[in-house]
Amino acid sequence: MGKVWFVGAGPGAPDLITVRGTRLLAEADAILYTGSLVAETALQWASPECEIADSKSMDLAQVTEWLLDRAARCQTVVRLQTGDPTLYGVVAELARPLDAAGVEIGIVPGVSSAMASAAAAGECLTLPEVTQTVIFTRVSERTKMPEREHFAGLAAHGCTLCIFLSIERIESIAQTLEEAGWAADAPVVVVHKATWPGEELVLRGTIADIAARCREAKVERQALILVSPALGARQHAPRATSKLYDASFPRRFRPARED
Ligand code: SAH
Repeated sequence: MGKVWFVGAGPGAPDLITVRGTRLLAEADAILYTGSLVAETALQWASPECEIADSKSMDLAQVTEWLLDRAARCQTVVRLQTGDPTLYGVVAELARPLDAAGVEIGIVPGVSSAMASAAAAGECLTLPEVTQTVIFTRVSERTKMPEREHFAGLAAHGCTLCIFLSIERIESIAQTLEEAGWAADAPVVVVHKATWPGEELVLRGTIADIAARCREAKVERQALILVSPALGARQHAPRATSKLYDASFPRRFRPARED
């Protein structure tokens, strides 16, 4: 019986997979991937003998069946997923039948598109004394949101929001943000295909105009929405400097200075 690894491929650029991820791809006897860019990453590292398949046309049961079957015959099986596998990656659903069959599984983290989008835009998701909390969420479409996680309630916190899988609802997102207390001129960043070679697009706007900007640029999928009071911080005077670099703040390996 082999082991099934859920490996994060990163957001798109083939060199944003982890070193551990590439080692497992090179060792793999069988790889099942999702997404065309992820395929390039897989092909680049896989051995010539490795069986490589696309799960594009498979449903969840077929993916499970494929993984169970290969785990019974091979030593190392990789399920390669975009970004980080623990975010919107149905790992629990896929792992349950593997657990039940006694197949060992492992998870290798990846660079999430949330992190890649912030980096592409040159933005930080936290800012001292402004926002110290990041919410990863989506708005409800076919997948029902849990009752206590309605977007309006999350938006009311005023902290950083990384919104996945929801670009087609940008209009109603902007409206809900305003109703939740965000200013109409608060900045919003939408990153389309973050880190995809030659295809990355960073759109900057405000709550009032971001939907129109997305429409103009024809950004309808593969995009992450960033809303945060930390956006644009590089252009503003600092409200507070992080205590981490404050010389009067004692750190474990650095005594506080009196001066
Ligand atoms: N596990 C993935 C998320 C999968 S859900 C991760 O950690 O990133 C798919 C959603 O992720 C898309 O609808 C989009 O919102 C976002 N996404 C994935 N790749 C992206 C990229 N390169 N640029 C911007 N958003 C991306």
